[in-house]
Amino acid sequence: KLVSREFKNEDTVIDIGGILVGGANLVVMAGPCAVESKEQLLESAKIVKAAGAQFLRGGAYKPRTSPYSFQGLEEKGLELLAEAKAVTGLKIVTEVVDIQSVPTVSAYADVLQIGARNMQNFQLLKAVGKSGMPVLLKRGMAATINEWLHAAEYIMSEGNFNVMFCERGIRTFEDYTRNTLDLSAVAVLKNLSHLPVIVDPSHGTGVWKLVRPMAKAAVAGGADGLMIEVHPNPAEALSDGNQSLTPDNFQALMNEVGAIAAVV
Ligand code: PEP
Ligand code: MN
Repeated sequence: KLVSREFKNEDTVIDIGGILVGGANLVVMAGPCAVESKEQLLESAKIVKAAGAQFLRGGAYKPRTSPYSFQGLEEKGLELLAEAKAVTGLKIVTEVVDIQSVPTVSAYADVLQIGARNMQNFQLLKAVGKSGMPVLLKRGMAATINEWLHAAEYIMSEGNFNVMFCERGIRTFEDYTRNTLDLSAVAVLKNLSHLPVIVDPSHGTGVWKLVRPMAKAAVAGGADGLMIEVHPNPAEALSDGNQSLTPDNFQALMNEVGAIAAVV
């Protein structure tokens, strides 16, 4: 299989507009759960840029559990992401939720995010495969590693090798945390596959106080990058405020993770 170390033993390094993901590089993708407004997004972008992140994350199309929750600003949100990119130079990671919007999202984003709920949406995987865009493939909340590898294979089988895995926690009997962050998946994937592995301790724990320790553990365990939710004012966030870091906590995380990356 294309995803496997048997096919290709050397680590894949993806060049995203000059930012390298994979190999010896550590990248950080940070920003709010959702794009909420121009002010909120530009402030978030400045915060994560100043702290040293390379990518701005933010959802314009939000896959919410309830249809009555904030659903995202859609194309207006994409325009705001493009504006934040123009101001800061950060690369943009944002979710694509259906086949129809792949061309639109690709026009604004540097990386297409496939959310946990769509990990086995095979038509969508084929469509992002055909797009040739870098893809961040989140783990389905009840997906085995084998199923996750096959999801990556769907994208690669269309000729697109620019795929990153993103561990974001799985559903287990434990309900203190929102999900159970499976850090062993990082080591398993690094053994089985040449593709980069990113860890998202924000969705992985659902609790802001647990994000910094798990980010440190992920980097120490060999992750190629982190995805972190950051909000200028988490208490006012329209989604995922409980797991979003304040600017000060995010800066502290970057300092801690930088020190660990220097020795691994
Ligand atoms: C997100 O990153 O905003 C998100 C919805 O994550 P997940 O698909 O992992 O739940
Ligand atoms: Mn979120």
